[in-house]
Amino acid sequence: MTTPRTNFIGINVSGTQARAALVDHDGSILETRVGEVVPKQLIPQLAAMVEELRSREGTVAAIGVAIPGLVNRQTDRVIAPRDLPSNSVYNLHEELTRATGLRVELENDANAAAYGEFKVGAGRGSRNLFYMMIGNGIGGAIILDGKLWTGASGLAGEVGHITINTGGLECVCGNTGCLETVASAPSIVRRARERLNRDSTSSLSRLALNKSFTADDVAHQANEGDDFALMMIERTGKYIGTGVASVINLLNIERIVLGGGVMDAGSLILNPIIHEVRRRAFQPCFEATEIVAAKLGLDAAPIGAAMLGRDAASD
Ligand SMILES: [Zn+2]
Repeated sequence: MTTPRTNFIGINVSGTQARAALVDHDGSILETRVGEVVPKQLIPQLAAMVEELRSREGTVAAIGVAIPGLVNRQTDRVIAPRDLPSNSVYNLHEELTRATGLRVELENDANAAAYGEFKVGAGRGSRNLFYMMIGNGIGGAIILDGKLWTGASGLAGEVGHITINTGGLECVCGNTGCLETVASAPSIVRRARERLNRDSTSSLSRLALNKSFTADDVAHQANEGDDFALMMIERTGKYIGTGVASVINLLNIERIVLGGGVMDAGSLILNPIIHEVRRRAFQPCFEATEIVAAKLGLDAAPIGAAMLGRDAASD
């Protein structure tokens, strides 16, 4: 007789989408479900995804949910959610536990993605790593001695709000000149647009033909050899590298994993990042650090959430 396999479910909830995965004990995805999020219906939606995945092979021991916000560790309540109304997620832990009858672990999305990369992605084999998610915002997470280190109130790793330019633009956090104000996807578009407007030579760029271009378009044009787009990506890499150099000097960490949509530009952005870190970081710190691109893409957060559920269930 064979014992049924024990699996886990990880769900990443964003402002628009829920991405759920049935994950085995080793972190491999067996099945996925993706659905649009209706904030008022969030709990029944997630419960329905769980039911569907649960009916597949094996038994499910725990659910992990990654959310764009902070989790109060004492109460398991979601505080300061981004992109989702707080009344739809505030009681998520309690309501999803009740709706599914399963153990639920909640975690911030960048932390969950970091844990996924750490367990089965680009962080594999390390004990200590710093993860950066560079997309619409810039998030980060710290794993020390194999565990997420979330700080005194859950905010550790907010690398997007490291000051890069003291005279820079105001940031959503209230500070000025944060890394996020120059290197997030919307900031890349803003910088490119400003430059197209004031520099006539850049009008040769194909980006000038498309009024509503995105950061993905900038990366795509850079890949096609467009000089202007390439310069924008390289400068973005320089900013990110400046932030990473500070992280390395602070933590002397063995691995930096860089994920999020902006890293889809591949080596075009990774090389200038590494170049800038080499230039700025304390040399022995730089030499002790591997700087690599994330491997799991959009699966990082659901896999990480599932692995957090697994590890909490075995405590
Ligand atoms: Zn900021």
